[in-house]
Amino acid sequence: MTANLRIALCGPAGAGKSTQAQLLQQQLHLPVIAAGNLFRQITMNQTGLGQFMASYIDHGRLLPSDLCNRLIMEELAKLDVTVGCILDGYPRTIEQAITLEDEMDKQSVTLDQVLCLTIPDVEAYQRLSARYTCRDCQRTQDLPQANPAVQHFCQHCGDKIHQREDDQPHKMEGRLRIYREHTEQMLELYQGQGRLTEISGLGTIDEVNQRIRAILQAHQPATPVLQ
Ligand SMILES: [Zn+2]
Repeated sequence: MTANLRIALCGPAGAGKSTQAQLLQQQLHLPVIAAGNLFRQITMNQTGLGQFMASYIDHGRLLPSDLCNRLIMEELAKLDVTVGCILDGYPRTIEQAITLEDEMDKQSVTLDQVLCLTIPDVEAYQRLSARYTCRDCQRTQDLPQANPAVQHFCQHCGDKIHQREDDQPHKMEGRLRIYREHTEQMLELYQGQGRLTEISGLGTIDEVNQRIRAILQAHQPATPVLQ
C-alpha cells in the first residue's frame, strides 16, 4: 500500500491511536504528527507556554483550539503533505477540523480519511490505569501489575516511566466528557462528508491494525498515481 493518503486518527483516550499511528508510519512510510506527544514535549520545557499548556493537559482539559492549530500548522509546514501524512490526535474539535481543511486547501490536497477507533468506556479506564509512559522517548507500555511504590523503566530506552498525570483514573471522566462534547460533534461533520470510518479498537494491536489497513485499502484513490 503506497497511496499518498492523508489520514487522521481519532478516538477517546486509551483507544490505541498512537500505537496504530506508529505502526502505520512504518507500513505506509508516511510521516506522523502526534499531537499529544508534541504538546506534552512543550510542557516539559520550563517556558511560560510549557507551563500554560501543562495547566490544561495535566488536568485532562482541552487546550485552546487556536493554540493547537498554530502548533500543528507549524509541524505541517515542515512536511510535504502532497506525499501524505498521518495525524494522531488532531483535529479534535470542529474549529480544528476547519483550520486543517483550510490549510490543506492551500496546498491543493484534502484529508482523505478520518479513522475513529472506538472502545467502551470501561475498557478505556482499564487500559489507562495500566498505561505507563516513558519520560524520554514517550512510548507507552502496559504494566497491569505495576507497583506504584517501585520505579519502573522503559523497555525501549531504559529511562524512567511513569503514569501520566492525565491518565490517572480520576481524570478519565473529564476527558471522556470533553471527548463527547467536542470530538463527537466533529466526527458527525466528517461523517456527513463521507470521510469517517469507525473501527473497533478492541482486540490485539495486530487485529486493530488489520482492520485499519483493510479500510485504507478500500479507500485507495480511484485515479492511479502516474509516476
Ligand atoms: Zn523510553
